[in-house]
Amino acid sequence: MAESEKSSALSALSTESRAFPPSEEFASQANATADWYDRADSDREGFWAEQADRLHWTTKWDTVLDWEPPFAKWFVGGELNVAYNCADRHVEAGNGDRVAIHWEGEPGDSRTITYADLQREVSKTANALTELGVGKGDRVAIQLPMIPEAVFSMLACARLGALHSVVFGGFSPGALKARIEDAEAKVLITSDGQYRRGKPAPMKENTDEAVEGTSIEKVLVVKRTETDVPWTDGRDVWWHDAVDGASDQHTPESFDSEHPLFILYTSGTTGKPKGILHTSGGYLTQSAYTHHVVFDHKPGESVYWCTADIGWVTGHTYIVYGPLANGATQVIYEGTPNTPHEGRHWEIVDKYKVSIYYTAPTLIRTFMKWGEDIPAKYDLSSLKVLGTVGEPINPEAWMWFREKIGKENCPIVDTWWQTETGSQMIAPLPGVTATKPGSAMRALPGISATVVDDTGTPVGNGEGGYLVLDKPWPSMLRGIWGDTERYKDTYWSRFAEQGYYFAGDGAKYDDDGAIWLLGRVDDVMNISGHRISTTEVESALVSHPTVAEAAVVGASDETTGQGIVAFVILRGSASKDEAKGEEAIKALRDHVSKEIGPIAKPRQILVVEELPKTRSGKIMRRLLRDVAENRDVGDVSTLADSSVMDLISSGMSESK
Ligand code: ATP
Ligand code: MG
Repeated sequence: MAESEKSSALSALSTESRAFPPSEEFASQANATADWYDRADSDREGFWAEQADRLHWTTKWDTVLDWEPPFAKWFVGGELNVAYNCADRHVEAGNGDRVAIHWEGEPGDSRTITYADLQREVSKTANALTELGVGKGDRVAIQLPMIPEAVFSMLACARLGALHSVVFGGFSPGALKARIEDAEAKVLITSDGQYRRGKPAPMKENTDEAVEGTSIEKVLVVKRTETDVPWTDGRDVWWHDAVDGASDQHTPESFDSEHPLFILYTSGTTGKPKGILHTSGGYLTQSAYTHHVVFDHKPGESVYWCTADIGWVTGHTYIVYGPLANGATQVIYEGTPNTPHEGRHWEIVDKYKVSIYYTAPTLIRTFMKWGEDIPAKYDLSSLKVLGTVGEPINPEAWMWFREKIGKENCPIVDTWWQTETGSQMIAPLPGVTATKPGSAMRALPGISATVVDDTGTPVGNGEGGYLVLDKPWPSMLRGIWGDTERYKDTYWSRFAEQGYYFAGDGAKYDDDGAIWLLGRVDDVMNISGHRISTTEVESALVSHPTVAEAAVVGASDETTGQGIVAFVILRGSASKDEAKGEEAIKALRDHVSKEIGPIAKPRQILVVEELPKTRSGKIMRRLLRDVAENRDVGDVSTLADSSVMDLISSGMSESK
């Protein structure tokens, strides 16, 4: 069969043969062992029942799974209190003095919060929210900087059985308003201001605009920056008035395993954000399990740091619920990585002796751009496990992370998952897997993922297609808030016949059957009948020594048909003028051709200073496609910095 007639959804181009097994020393002390895969396969429900035993249930479930596709119920009949699991029970087990949170403020202030402190603060917050009229099933919107009160607020909602809807601090009043309205939230928790790159920026001013004319009855305001704020008597309440004076005693109520825990709107990389609904028992089970095995977390010993913002699902699952359910000691940092200097993260790793560091590829590429001499100035020898999430990681960025940060001594876990999946799904086990740079490797024990072609038939090794999840999992979304049809349509209609969850991402198996994520299906390029992933071409570009970051799109052009247009950011060390010259561009095009084949050779390469990214740091290729196809740029509301698009557009017209 000719290549173009094949029904597989994607060509598999790159071949990466490097693999790094864990050291014997690491493997011998690891939390999970290789036999977990078979054990989980042979009795999936039994395996998840064991994982659910990580939690404290006030009433044990009677059925592990009730699956009426596409609706799942996990641990049916069970009852628990999520906040009790994340704070009180550690205190009751005698670990009240253990540090839960080493909080580091952007201006250099810090706070140490033990589990006993956490229990008290969450209880006080829960009592204050009760006073403000919050009860079981109510929605509470939260827009806060990365301060401890954000964690207290989320856990206080969980304690009361109220749903939180956390909205990232950088979102505009319009974006916050849309989310408040969609969830019909009753209370908003916010702050006077937030630090942004060393300077206080107003926050309450914006949230006031968002709240206008909505269902919000009370606004609880944390004082963080001492910024002057507009005030509405009767509606607005200071945190220090309502919470500080509240009782620190609060008896947690038990809720059904399927009681809703939170709504979280997706990042909006591809379109209108969806209000993803998660529930309690299954979500907390898989969050605790994955945090334990994927990071090889050792309570009382590990010092864990996830650099995400609580406004994203990573912050929910891997700052709040997973680590705190596991009694972790973690670092929470309020600010940006270059405030006041580009070594801030490494200074923090050194200060708190961080052993597990979990971040996003976009940040690793930024560190690469800033240069390796910056981390080299700090003692990073406490690090044991490194993790990434959010986008495919280019093999060269992975290698840089391994060498310059992990000193070739730390397993790297590239974790694939989504807001919808609730917690990690495809990732190596650090003490088991021989990891390959750029591959998320295989589904975790208990999870089942497959790569299929257009017809839903699994592809073979060396072939690409669509990533699907073919069996339900405990932390799966239970729906889109208020829109069951959209839930069915978005995730379950593409492979309805087979009953697969359609993730929207392209993927391939390599010759050993390891899974490689290839970017979003919406971004796949069609070049002379070949379906080519953006990720592979971008990784080929990033493997050139002058390139720090790359984004490619397939652009149609009236005269030339569809071709690949690449946007690249150069590394700190590359001389701009030389690297932008015609010779250098030709060398880059040839490099791609040599690395993965002439079919993937970019038609055009543009050197840019920045790429359009969402506020969670993901490249928005649909906007680059607009530029490359000379269209007006579409909706930029989820973009972190909308001026980036003007710069790129003007660069594009100059280069024509
Ligand atoms: P929206 O769904 O609103 O367009 P989004 O998909 O960016 O936004 P998230 O749920 O935050 O919202 O991101 C999940 C997506 O991120 C995945 O579907 C995948 O495209 C990408 N992703 C996450 N982790 C990885 C990873 N380790 N490797 C490759 N891609 C990843
Ligand atoms: Mg998505």
